This record gives sequence, C-alpha cells and structure tokens, in this order.
Amino acid sequence: MPYSPVIGLEVHCQLATKTKLFCGCEIEVNTEPNKHVCPVCLGLPGALPSPNKKAIDLAVKLGLALNCEIDSHALWTRKNYFYPDLPKGYQITQTGGIPLYDHPVCKNGYIEIISEGGEKKRIGITRIHIEEDAGKLVHDFSPNNSHFDANRCGTPLCEIVTEPDIRSPEDAVLVLEKIKQVLEYTGVSNANLENGNMRCDGNISIRKSEDAPFGTRAEIKNLNSFSNLQKALEAEIELQSETLDKGGKVEQCTKRFDTSRCKTTVIRSKEDSHDYKYFPEPDMLRLFIEQSHVESIRQGMPELPDSRRNRYMQSFGLSQYDAQVLTADKDVSDWFDLATKTCKNSKILANWVTSELMRELKEMEGGISSLKFKPEDLAQMVNLIENSTISGKIGKTVFAEMLSTGKNPDTIIKEKGLVQITDTSAIEAIVRKVIEANQSQWQEFKGGKAQLRGFFVGQIMKNSGGKANPGVVNKLLEEI
Ligand code: ADP
Ligand code: MG
Ligand code: ZN
Repeated sequence: MPYSPVIGLEVHCQLATKTKLFCGCEIEVNTEPNKHVCPVCLGLPGALPSPNKKAIDLAVKLGLALNCEIDSHALWTRKNYFYPDLPKGYQITQTGGIPLYDHPVCKNGYIEIISEGGEKKRIGITRIHIEEDAGKLVHDFSPNNSHFDANRCGTPLCEIVTEPDIRSPEDAVLVLEKIKQVLEYTGVSNANLENGNMRCDGNISIRKSEDAPFGTRAEIKNLNSFSNLQKALEAEIELQSETLDKGGKVEQCTKRFDTSRCKTTVIRSKEDSHDYKYFPEPDMLRLFIEQSHVESIRQGMPELPDSRRNRYMQSFGLSQYDAQVLTADKDVSDWFDLATKTCKNSKILANWVTSELMRELKEMEGGISSLKFKPEDLAQMVNLIENSTISGKIGKTVFAEMLSTGKNPDTIIKEKGLVQITDTSAIEAIVRKVIEANQSQWQEFKGGKAQLRGFFVGQIMKNSGGKANPGVVNKLLEEI
C-alpha cells in the first residue's frame, strides 16, 4: 500500500572564511597534515577561544537570504563527546538539547521551490546555527595504522535545519539544490557536495495519508550527492512501507546509506544515541549582534536566485522553466548576465545558453570558467543572426568553431567565408538551378502539393552551402 512520506533535511556547510572559527589558524585543504594548528583549536588547557566575525557575518547573511529572524543574543553551548578526531573532547555549537540552551543565530525562515509541473512550494527553515568542525582520521589499512589530522579542527560550519515540510524525495532534491544555490549566490559557502564542504542528512517518516499524524522518523547521515539523497530516501520509504505493511513498527534510528547495495542500514538506535551533556559554553559570552549590523548585512545582500529568476522572466520574457534553468548555477547565470549586456535579443541568447552551451558544459571539465570564448562573443554571434549576416544554421557552425578555437564570430565568419547570401539575384540563380534539376517535383508543387516546399528550401540551402538567407529563398519560391 502506498504511504505519504514526510521529510526534513539537515544541511551542514563550511563557511567561506580564511581562518578558523575561534583562532587565527588558516584554513587550507589538501595540505600537509597538522600544518594549521594552535593551542586553541587543539583544546590545550588554558587556551581561550575568540570568535571569527567573518564567520558570524556569513551565517547572518545566510539567515537573511533564507528569510530567517536573527537572534540578537545567540548562545554558544558546549557539546561533549569523546572521539579520536576531537582532541578538545567537546565542540562549541549553538544547539542546546533543551529549550533553555537553544538559541541559534537564525530561526523561523523559509525557502521556495518550484516543484515538477511549476507548482511553488514553501519549505520552513527551522534554524541555522554555527558550530566548529572536528578533525579527521586517516586510516591506512595496509600496516593497520590510523593517523590524525587536526587541520580541520575548528573550521566554521553552519547547520541549516528544515521543517518536516517536504513531501517527496524529488522535492527534497529541489530543497537541497535551492540551499546550495543560495549558499553560492551569497558566497556564504563554496557548497561543494563532492569534496565534503557541504553534507546533508535526510530525516524521513511515512504515514497512511496526508492528514494522518506524522510517523516515526529515521535519520540518514552524510548524503554526499543529490542522487544519493534521492535514492536513500526512496530506499527508506520502501523499507518503512514494508515494515508497516507487515504490521510492524518503525523504530527511531540513525542510518547510513550503502550506495553499492542501494539500501539504508542502522548505525544506532534511539536508545544508544549520544548524551552530549550540553551546557552554556563557559569560555564564551553570548553572541551580541546589533540590529544596525544586521541591517548593514542586509544592505550588502547580492541578487538572490529567486529575484534573478523573476528578473529574467520580466526583462527578457523567458518562461519560468527557462529562467529556472538559467539561474540554477550561479557561474552560468553570471556569464549569461554579462552576455545580455551587449546582446540585441536576450531571449534568443537564452535559447543558445540553455540548449547548445549547456549541452557542451555537461561534457566539459572545469565548467563555464574554462570556456575558450567570452560572453560578449556569443552575444555578438546572436546579433549576427539577428541582423541576417548569418543564418541560424551557420550559427551552429560558428558556435562549434568558437568552442574549439576561442576565436570571435567575426573572425570565424571572415576566415571561413560564412557570410549569408542575401543578394536576391545570386539566390535567384540558385533557385532556378534547383527548379531546373527537379522539374517533376516543381510541377507537383505548382499543382498544389504544398509539402514540397520543404524539399525545395532544403535543396536550395544545400546548393548555397547553407548560406542563402531562408527568408529570401521562401520569398523567391513564392514569386516564381
Ligand atoms: P536531531 O538533533 O534529533 O537530529 P533536529 O531538530 O536537529 O533533531 O532535526 C530534526 C529533523 O527531522 C528536522 O529536519 C525535521 O524537519 C525532521 N523531522 C522531525 N520530525 C519528523 C518526522 N516525523 N518525519 C520526518 N522528518 C521529521
Ligand atoms: Mg540531527
Ligand atoms: Zn588554531
């Protein structure tokens, strides 16, 4: 029997600061182990933390971008646990276990997704809090050694928790995509799922119908790609459905997703879940954020994906779908924005970007920044089609050449002699030649077999090496 899923996400991401959250150690990935450490991030006795203002500003910026309230007196708490990657024996965070200690820097926000079929849905953001990351264990299985790297200790993270407002694995992917998009547009995080500076936990339960009370949830940890998020949620829905169908009960538990078997497996049950013994962090004052400071961060907010999407729809007449596709990736969208500055027809330009260019980008390593040609080159090519210097078909040839050589369209057209023939007498000669060679079809066409128009246009274009202006070709066929 089919059940209705209820989903909430917890997304961790690394804040894009140069230094750590409570000390001045540099953040550098892929460097030698234990290069960036000090008494504070190692938790040596007597060392005192002092907060990184940039990290807090980034979290506030994210909160504003996700429509949250900013707490002017957020509370730092100490989360105690013992694990070999945590020399301090605790993390400084902003969760508290009990309401008295629970004052994250941002709460009560929301984001919007556009679900399949164009329906807008609002998903609540429960909270965003700041916390420090732990170090890293490196397991070297051949000689059976484990090594410890403290470079990551004290790296600033924020955790974004959504309300259980999501109703399908597909929508969960859209929510995660939207969060990633906002992180990129605001510059709050590099938000890269693959290299781990963004991670997602999926919480999911099922119920008999949309109006039944929520069921018991499972929490699936550390999903590191959009497709794994979707697959893990789907696998868990199937598992919970089987349990309920058999008359069983779903137990609350923490799970992981086994990608090779496409199954979720239990890490721990609720009974042996951690007791973190939270208390207010004695080495830190409350985080006092003045309203005027929040306002100055709001003033400096860049254009966000939703407003950019709306601008594309209003200024360029794009459909919601196309505007959505164009704004999905900030780098692509920034590139398109630059091209529109010199392009005479932004709608046609948008078509080129969403079809031809994006198809190429999928195959390319390094994304749009590794393109050989510049945004104004594509703008120029569209302008050349618009003013009939070249046909749309020749445009594709020019585009392919731009991709491989990085030359600008003017140069390519000159070098290859691709300028469109608009001279009526030159085209007429070709038209007459084609009619001559295809007399029987010509008689049928004249006799009313209108489908043959395509045949003639095709033959004429072919004879002109694709360079005849199609408008002139059609007009001449009509006249003759
Ligand atoms: P915990 O610390 O136990 O993980 P959090 O409050 O950090 O709790 O996160 C709870 C997450 O679980 C939120 O994303 C919330 O939306 C989601 N959630 C809560 N109840 C349910 C439920 N019944 N089904 C699915 N998701 C739920
Ligand atoms: Mg959790
Ligand atoms: Zn340090």
